[in-house]
Amino acid sequence: MEVLRSRNELQAHLNSLKHEGSSIALVPTMGALHRGHLELVRIAQQKADVVVVSIFVNPTQFLAGEDLDKYPRTLEADKAACEAIDVDVLFVPDVDQIYSNAPRYIGFTIDQLADQLCGASRPGHFQGVIQVVNKLFNIVRPDIAIFGQKDYQQFRLLECMNEEFNHGIKLIMAPIVRDGDMLALSSRNRYLSVEERQKALSLYSSLVWIKDGLFEKGDINKLLEQAQQLILKEGLKIDYLGVYDAKSLQPVSKVEPIHTYLIAGAIYAGSTRLIDNIVLRI
Ligand code: AMP
Repeated sequence: MEVLRSRNELQAHLNSLKHEGSSIALVPTMGALHRGHLELVRIAQQKADVVVVSIFVNPTQFLAGEDLDKYPRTLEADKAACEAIDVDVLFVPDVDQIYSNAPRYIGFTIDQLADQLCGASRPGHFQGVIQVVNKLFNIVRPDIAIFGQKDYQQFRLLECMNEEFNHGIKLIMAPIVRDGDMLALSSRNRYLSVEERQKALSLYSSLVWIKDGLFEKGDINKLLEQAQQLILKEGLKIDYLGVYDAKSLQPVSKVEPIHTYLIAGAIYAGSTRLIDNIVLRI
């Protein structure tokens, strides 16, 4: 495995591989790798000849007061995990490889898809995500890129960005990987106490409650109220919980057949913000 820190080195390395006809898959991450990330790599390996994993804790997607400084950084373990599953290239840029000191194009006005869900309580977060992924796409110029369904809204926004900026990269969404207790894997789960983790399981249970209720043709508002109670009775704070059109991400108040919906929520367990979702095709 090549571990490369500089943009130029990475591009030189990839150019020679591309010249030989190899297809390239990119798996962008912020490190603290877990089985969810490794699943993205496994899918990438099935779809392309060369897999590049990037690890970059992107400062522009953290709001003031969020966990940028304490975000877990476990580079040695991440390297070992990537090596063990035969990642070809690990790209670990420092901030100066991604952002210039005196940027002249600072952000993006991004699609209104960013106004809902996580974007509503994290204004500016998705601008940062779009900005860094756009840069990574330009640096790596992969054929495909893999992202997780766990960040469903992020995936929808990246699809729009990919189209808007004519990257022509095939984007693949990988399913959510969960622990045995069904908590969606997240680098932030390590912040949870045993008790918080137990309580946090109510997020997924509430999503399943809504999904099952919708299958039984239940009323969305009633289901949402009941689902909220599952979380509130654990003493957790809800950021959002709802049923959305899977494409527009607008909340819906009733579901129609032959349509895809996103049942999604975000909660705070202590100071840790957790997200999860289920994609429902009716
Ligand atoms: P992160 O390092 O948290 O920025 O995540 C990097 C990529 O891994 C994103 O595309 C995430 O959606 C994806 N990811 C994170 N957690 C999971 C999970 N539990 N299952 C599948 N993909 C995930």
